[in-house]
Formats: sequence, C-alpha cells, structure tokens
Amino acid sequence: MQGDHLSINDAQSENRSVPFFNLTQQYETISSEVLSSVKRLFSEQKFILGEEVAELETEIAKYCDSREAIGCASGTDALILSLLALDIGPDDEVITSPFTFFATASAVARVGATPVFVDIDPESFNLDPQKVEEAISPRTRAIIPVHLFGQCAEMEPLWRIAVRKRISIIEDSCQAIGAEYNGRRAGVLGTLSCFSFFPTKNLGGAGDGGMITTDDHLLAERLRKLRVHGETKRYHHEEIGMNSRLDAIQAAVIRIKLKKLDEWTESRQENASRYETLFRSQNLLDAIELPTVLPSRVHVYNQYTIRVKGGLRDQVLETLQNRNIGAGLYYPIPLHLQECFSDLGYKTGDLPESESASNEVMSLPIYPELTENEQEQVVKAISVALGRARNESPILTHPKFHDRQNARPQNKVA
Ligand SMILES: *Cc1c(COP(=O)(O)O)cnc(C)c1O
Repeated sequence: MQGDHLSINDAQSENRSVPFFNLTQQYETISSEVLSSVKRLFSEQKFILGEEVAELETEIAKYCDSREAIGCASGTDALILSLLALDIGPDDEVITSPFTFFATASAVARVGATPVFVDIDPESFNLDPQKVEEAISPRTRAIIPVHLFGQCAEMEPLWRIAVRKRISIIEDSCQAIGAEYNGRRAGVLGTLSCFSFFPTKNLGGAGDGGMITTDDHLLAERLRKLRVHGETKRYHHEEIGMNSRLDAIQAAVIRIKLKKLDEWTESRQENASRYETLFRSQNLLDAIELPTVLPSRVHVYNQYTIRVKGGLRDQVLETLQNRNIGAGLYYPIPLHLQECFSDLGYKTGDLPESESASNEVMSLPIYPELTENEQEQVVKAISVALGRARNESPILTHPKFHDRQNARPQNKVA
C-alpha cells in the first residue's frame, strides 16, 4: 500500500515466488474494457472532471449509500479538502490515530491545525474511544478515525462524543471501501468520509485519485468549489481552494473496477479464512495473532496483518524475504514518533499500544488472485522461521485439512 510507491515496481519486477500483490493479473481481466475507455476519452479530449467523473461520483455514492460523492486528486487531498470544508485550521485540534498511514495526520498539520494522537485498541488497531474521550479539549474540532486494514473503527462511542461536544467526524476510509459497521458502509459513518484510489487500495486506479462522501449538501457544494481553486464562476474566486481534481481516465478505470469490487473483496475474505485454517493446522496460534473481526463488522482486508509475539517479527520477515515471499510492514514507526512531529512533544512510551503494534505487526499477501498453494508457502515459511516446521516438505497434506478447506469457511460477519 502506501509509503511504498517504490515497492510496487520492486514487488512486480522481481520474480518472487509469492508477490505481496499482483496487479498485473487483475489488469488482464479488464484490459480490453480499460483500453476502449481510454481510446474514447482521447477521442473526446476530455481529461479532467467531466461526465466520467460525475458518473463515478454517482456510483460511489450509491455504493456507500451516501447522498453525495466528490472526486479529488488523492486520498491525502480528500482529507485536506474535508478539513478545509469544515474550516479547521490554526488553533484547532484534531484527534487521530498514530498507527496509520502518514497522510491521516499530515493533512491536519497541512491545514495548520494540531494533530492530537490517541492510542489504539490492540485488537483492532483502531482508535480507542475511551482515550479519545480523555483527549477532548476546548480546541478539539474533529476526530479522524481510521478504518485500518479494511475494518471499521468503533464508531458508536465516537458519535456520542461528537454530538455532545459538537465536533465533526472525518472517516479515513482509504483502506476500507465496502467495509461495514452495523450494516452501514464506510462512507456514511461520519460527517465526511475520505477514500483513496491509490493503485494498491482495494479499489485502485492507474495513478492517484480520491473521493469524499457525505450526506451534507452544503459541505458537498463547498468541496466542489474548494477542489477547483475556490472558483464559483470562471475566474471568480470566493475563497482560496486547491487544484485537486480527479482525471477522467482515472474515473474510467475505477468505474470498470468498481463492478468487480465485491467479487474481489469476497476473494480477500476467503483468503483470510484460509490463512486462519492453515495457521491453526500448523499450531502456530500461540506464536502469532491473526486479525480479529469484531462483532457487527464486515472486514474487507486491504491488509492481512498479523502480530508476531516474542520479538520474532523481524526474524520472520527475513525468512520470508529470503524465500522471495512478499510481506509488508504497516507501520514501522507510529506517527507521534516521526521526526516532523517532534515539535508536538511526544516521546517513546507515550502511546504504548501503537508502539508495540509497530514492533510486532507484519502484513501478508492477501490480494484476490492469491492461490491456495501460495498461501501454503507463506504459512510454511512462517512455520520454519519460528522453528516449528518438523520437516520441510510434506506440510499441509493431511487429508482432514483439505476437507476443511473445501468447506469454504464463512467470515463475512462475525
Ligand atoms: C492510502 C491512505 C491515505 C492516502 O491516500 P493517497 O491517495 O495515497 O493520498 C490516507 N490514509 C490512509 C489510511 C491510507 O491508507
């Protein structure tokens, strides 16, 4: 995912035995449709916003069940535009998680406001609502919960805080398109919700792209203005906005992929179930913790992130690397300890759950096209790294194991 603009190329150019993700294979299934859309857009010479983007906005709004959707240039810009639309700036505080991609907090700083980091719940990796409550101050204007790795944050306590304190909630849904909380999708769980179409997200374009969803028509109108330099009428600027528009070619690609999103999400969920079966069959559940699906959630597994206990994470990572098995590290440094935020005054030990997550997590390949054989290789390598494999070759051939696998475990809603 993010932080890894480079590793996309790395992961795909090297011939790994199991890549971390595989966008080539996905592209093969849609290439003719993509190419004919690109051809059409070139013949029309319409490249920015326009009909194609408007269609995508309608489709995303329908997908999330929101009243409005506003395309923009990236997930990062979606966050910045959301903060601007709420008039959040200098002297304001915004509460968020330190265990997320950098942009969640940099957007807050970029508009001149102060990020206030609150520790996470160790099971879900998402904001701990109790700690959010404790961090509210008279300057708090918004909370940005992140639906990390594809599972929605605990929203109900945040809604109660938001109503009581009259503050806004901006969902960071960049990793969570299609994820559900109590039957409602990410995108309608806050005042505003931010999506990214970075290529490795579950719904990724052929470059950067983003979207904001909301039920508030006035905010939507403001956002449509802010993304085009605050312009209302040509060369009339009511306020200073940004240049943050979505390209027609991106919209066309994303529209084609949106039709496949639910199918791809289901494959991710099946892969997650299969990992669980495999790890269980190898008796590894005392050494690693698997992702938990919390009650009333649908997890869309943008990442399949495990914890390796006993300080053995780096050893496991190294073994996977040596075997050409792709793995990711999201996130190695919690944001409160980033150099650029040192003026905020946080130190090691301040947010212990985020810090220990950073030391223990690693993400395994989970892309929809991942095969059973590839997953077996991943689990086998981890078993070897942990010194558990009794002998290298015939693991996972027990007939009982295969029976269980054929019975496609359910994991949609826990
Ligand atoms: C990807 C991501 C972003 C930023 O999206 P871009 O489109 O890359 O700008 C923000 N927050 C989270 C949690 C993300 O995963």
